[in-house]
Amino acid sequence: MDANSSSPPSAPLAWHKSACNLCYINCGVELGVSGSGAHQRIVKVRGDGDNPRSQGYLCNKAQAIPSYVHHRDRLTTPLRRRPDGSHEPTSWDTAVREIAERLGPIVAHHGGKTIAAVGGGGQGNHAGGSYAFGFLRALGSRTIFNALSQEKTGDFWLNGHLFGSQMCHTGEDIHHCDLLLVLGANPKLAHGFTNARDQLNGLRKDPGRKLIVVDPRRTETAENADLHIALRPGTDAFLLGALLAELMRRNDFDEAFLTAHAVGVDEVKAVLAAVPVAEWLAAADVGADAFAQLVQMVIDAKAMVVRVELGIQQGLNSTLNSYLEKLLYLMTGHFSRPGTHGLHSWLAPLWGNSPGARHFATQAEVISGLLSPNVLPDAILSDHPDRLRVLWVDSANPVNTAADTARVVQAMAALDLMVVVDVAYTETAALADYVLPASSTFEKCEFTLFNFELPTNYFHVRAPVLPPLPGTLPEPEIYGRLARAMGLMPDDALLDSLRAAAADP
Ligand code: SF4
Repeated sequence: MDANSSSPPSAPLAWHKSACNLCYINCGVELGVSGSGAHQRIVKVRGDGDNPRSQGYLCNKAQAIPSYVHHRDRLTTPLRRRPDGSHEPTSWDTAVREIAERLGPIVAHHGGKTIAAVGGGGQGNHAGGSYAFGFLRALGSRTIFNALSQEKTGDFWLNGHLFGSQMCHTGEDIHHCDLLLVLGANPKLAHGFTNARDQLNGLRKDPGRKLIVVDPRRTETAENADLHIALRPGTDAFLLGALLAELMRRNDFDEAFLTAHAVGVDEVKAVLAAVPVAEWLAAADVGADAFAQLVQMVIDAKAMVVRVELGIQQGLNSTLNSYLEKLLYLMTGHFSRPGTHGLHSWLAPLWGNSPGARHFATQAEVISGLLSPNVLPDAILSDHPDRLRVLWVDSANPVNTAADTARVVQAMAALDLMVVVDVAYTETAALADYVLPASSTFEKCEFTLFNFELPTNYFHVRAPVLPPLPGTLPEPEIYGRLARAMGLMPDDALLDSLRAAAADP
């Protein structure tokens, strides 16, 4: 100890392996924890070099993990709504008992169909949703509103038509491609694939590999691209259509692949043959020279990945954009071989397959088993006998994130019951009848669910780093207590043999 210092030497940090959940890449992290017992805090974050997925890679967002876990908005007690709309603290026993007492008659008189889940896990909290869905399913509810269905269901719907199931999700072998074509994405800042900045640097340094960025803005990723096409905003479908038409004219379609694996090719070719390429390029404001470079680089590619994101999936013609970007790699045969696209495996699918299904009260299409939160107000305010009466919000905040938040708030006032399970007091929690505080993702057993990689993907099971924040419970305990209070659980003694086996070293 420094003789001039009055501070005692600080104890070394205890380092725990886990994963960053602040985007769907889920890089492996090591979390440095100070203190002991109830005073433990995550104070440092570093990349985990042993993690086979990310191999030590980390972006600056991971440094926000301590703030996320120890945020002043963390809930530490169940809350119950007073008649004036404000909340008062209550005990877990009271909250669970009262929720069960209110849910029971609703299920008995109106059926489980009148209950819906909103959210269910999320970037910050992956496993929680599965317990919520299991609990609601036991009550007879199958309705799930999830933000994924606002962002990605055009993509999922197309996968259903192109590959046979909405659960057939494609992955990208970016690490081995020789051409990366990026549309509507900015991986240098927003990632979207593992070790994104390292991969982009690798592309830049290797003269045999190329990067094309199609984006109206000169993004940080475009700064290092071999070709940046700054098209007119919202015209991606025109550019992609023109590109496909020109590639067909230049005989760049992989006829052997198409003959072996595709149907309906002639119909697609007939449509492409009628594309007025010059007109569509003018609509996209793309010059002939830039287009010629784009076409030649695609023709020269031996292994191309087309990397897209919300920029085209939530822009104008979003579903058509998704269809055309998939056609681009399928018609040219950049599929199911190293450095291209493919159908990845996954241990626990994030969504389902529901071709043609419609929600009974609103007739909104249910895609991948999910409904858009934008449909939520109609599902509550409908005069259908099975209109929604109960909303179970788990790790979601539709009052802040839906497109028409004023209407969401109006609809919530017509509910018989709303329960929010979350780590923080959100805008939606402020309107709930009961708010149940969940332990954070680092305070319980968790996994990383966004296992989209190709050709190898990873399902990372994680041990708790900290004990649950006092007053909170992990979701298995929350939903176990609720299920028991609702009479959904078998006799507790049935589990005695399992408990004995678990306790036996
Ligand atoms: S890339 Fe995503 S998962 Fe990795 S450190 Fe950044 S925010 Fe976290």
